[in-house]
Amino acid sequence: MILLDGKKISEKILERVRNKVVEDIGKGGKTPCLTVIIVGKDPASQIYVRNKKIAAEKVGIKSNIIELPKNITEDNLLKTIQELNNDNSVTGILVQLPLPEHINKNHIIQAILPQKDVDGFTPENIGKLAAGMTPYFYPATPQGIIMLLNEYNIKIEGADALVIGRSNIVGRPMSQMLINLNATVTTAHSFTKDLEDKIKTADIVISAVGKKIVRCKMVKKNSVIVDVGIFKDANGKLTGDVDFDYVSPSCGFISPVPGGVGPMTIASLMFNASMVYV
Ligand code: NAP
Repeated sequence: MILLDGKKISEKILERVRNKVVEDIGKGGKTPCLTVIIVGKDPASQIYVRNKKIAAEKVGIKSNIIELPKNITEDNLLKTIQELNNDNSVTGILVQLPLPEHINKNHIIQAILPQKDVDGFTPENIGKLAAGMTPYFYPATPQGIIMLLNEYNIKIEGADALVIGRSNIVGRPMSQMLINLNATVTTAHSFTKDLEDKIKTADIVISAVGKKIVRCKMVKKNSVIVDVGIFKDANGKLTGDVDFDYVSPSCGFISPVPGGVGPMTIASLMFNASMVYV
């Protein structure tokens, strides 16, 4: 069994991003500038936003955090986004989710200029992905997973891939990226029957649920198990969807939690933030 070491690979990707940023600026390009909007003071969101800023600065990307009060109106948030869309010095815009309940998340995402939508969540970017076209940006987590598989020379073309979960941020774009890379994809969700049989026969399993759901002892020989889930177990310890001790002896590759998909997501987001389209 080979460990998919997201921590090590993410450092490699970040180094490449840093070199690319220096090279692009050297050629007279604009310095990339990521602006992150956070609404309210959710402690987890504040940590995520701070980590994104630190990561951006490490690779030479400028970054700003715009902190807005929890009671901001949807109209005022839309105005802020419009200003950032029109600001030539801003090359990437990211709205930290979740937003307060009185704000319609879809209205906000739709307002971001697709060329600055580093999360890859706008209808234009998601629509292009779904249509097999090239979006400006791919969503960070699935793109980070593809980068991880590529670094280990894992063959996607022709593989039977099982994606567990169909959220807009992970499961759906993951399935679409795999289809576009010529895998045969099954997307499982809470209504899926016989999940265990599907897990046991897949060449690649990507689990993005948030519950301990992949726990079979015998998976397919040489299969690749990617654990996206991250949550706290009953003892408060960070864990993933996959029962590592059960599954790891029979698979070919497996990603740990922590140290797998998490750091790859940050590296992938920085890759996106380094792209300048405006
Ligand atoms: P989400 O929006 O809650 O989606 C969970 C998905 O799991 C849903 O599609 C749901 O199906 C499906 N599901 C629930 N129970 C199931 C079952 N028994 N069998 C099969 N499918 C089931 O979650 P998310 O935002 O995609 O995140 C998933 C996990 O990944 C979470 O632990 C999150 O913290 C983690 N995550 C990690 C990273 C990272 O960078 N490491 C990034 C993003 C998310 P329905 O659609 O039918 O409800």
